[in-house]
Amino acid sequence: MKVAKFGGSSVANAEQLIKVGNIIKSDPKRKFIVVSAPGKRFAGDAKMTDMLIQLGEAFHNDDDYELYLSAVMARFSEIIEGLRVNDDIYAEIETGIKMALAAKGSMESKMDAIKATGEDSSAKILSAYLNSVGLSAYYINPQEAGIIVSDEPGNARILPESFDKIYSLHNEEGILVIPGFFGYTKDGKLATFSRGGSDITGSIIAAGVKAEMYENFTDVDSVYTVNPNIVSHPKEITTLTYKEMRELSYAGFSVFHDEALIPAFREKIPVCIKNTNNPDAPGTLIVAEKETSEKCVVGIASDTGFCSLYVSKFLMNREVGFGRKLLNIFEDEGISFEHAPSGIDDMSVIFRDKKFTPEKEKVVVDRIKEELKVDTVSIHRDLAVIMVVGEGLVNTIGVAQKATTAFSNANVNIEMINQGSSEVSMMFGIQAADLNDAIQSLYTSFFS
Ligand code: ASP
Repeated sequence: MKVAKFGGSSVANAEQLIKVGNIIKSDPKRKFIVVSAPGKRFAGDAKMTDMLIQLGEAFHNDDDYELYLSAVMARFSEIIEGLRVNDDIYAEIETGIKMALAAKGSMESKMDAIKATGEDSSAKILSAYLNSVGLSAYYINPQEAGIIVSDEPGNARILPESFDKIYSLHNEEGILVIPGFFGYTKDGKLATFSRGGSDITGSIIAAGVKAEMYENFTDVDSVYTVNPNIVSHPKEITTLTYKEMRELSYAGFSVFHDEALIPAFREKIPVCIKNTNNPDAPGTLIVAEKETSEKCVVGIASDTGFCSLYVSKFLMNREVGFGRKLLNIFEDEGISFEHAPSGIDDMSVIFRDKKFTPEKEKVVVDRIKEELKVDTVSIHRDLAVIMVVGEGLVNTIGVAQKATTAFSNANVNIEMINQGSSEVSMMFGIQAADLNDAIQSLYTSFFS
């Protein structure tokens, strides 16, 4: 049997949900269905999850929230009417949202309860619709399904005991429709995964029921070798490994949540990225191992919003514990690091600059000066990271040379190079302003 997950654009309106119904009908193996909340219907439209966040914030700040509630209900009403399902479901959804608004707990937990109603309502609507077109479908709540998560609102992680419970679902009759994006803690508190986390639910269910395939339906025909917003009509990737996908989704390949690979990977379940708007296209298959092809680089990922902190100290290489003490300061300040390239007398720590406020920067820099007695410390913001990814990198000669030539052809200065120990990727740090030129040149070198 297969697990099929439908993302926000696939459930954005009635027309899309009708396509979803046809996809489910066309393959009786599609027994477990996971859904996102309604996404954007057109460029510039609001995602349901963002609308619910606005609603929750207005409600809990004692602002006038009625307007936001009506906007949310209007979107659901449009979908319900378009599908011509029994409109009792409208009242059920409204009650669910009102109950979530009244939820108790910390602010983060209360917001999680509200955010989760997007996926929850989507699952209820889809299950009603599938029944109306003659399929036996059942809505099932993540708690009943056995999705037990850590108590980290907005960033929950699956707990290992979930999988046995989920396995018992494989005997259930009919099609089970499960809302994505959230689970319940051991003591019954709702908690959501990080944003985009319905992919994670799909993968958990696929691993739990030991599905033969996890299909992830989105709005593109495949995963592309490079960001299509930078290079127009880039080549498609037909097959890639979990490791390659992990490296690509880390830096900007947003088709699939990076945390979602883990459960499928552990059970070696192939993941297929497919297009709801073109379900006959073969899509991109993510597998444990693939045949070595002549292409050693499968894709080039890139992302902006990085920051680097550089420290130098003469004879740093002889100072036992220097790296640990530096990283300890990051740990104390709650900043996770992404890369840490080092030289004999210097070291850089690369991290996302989202949470590195000017106040945090001052604390970190002062502590480094004070506790590590460094010669220099400097911060570089507005960095972009480019990852050249492929399992073939490990035994191909000349990839770095090809990449650096591409940077020099584009007249782009490389600020940092790091070849991960896994040798699945090569990382380059450059100024964010140079990103498009660099990517275009790399694409020409590796794929044209
Ligand atoms: N609706 C959630 C979000 O927008 C989760 C998801 O769509 O996967 O982040």
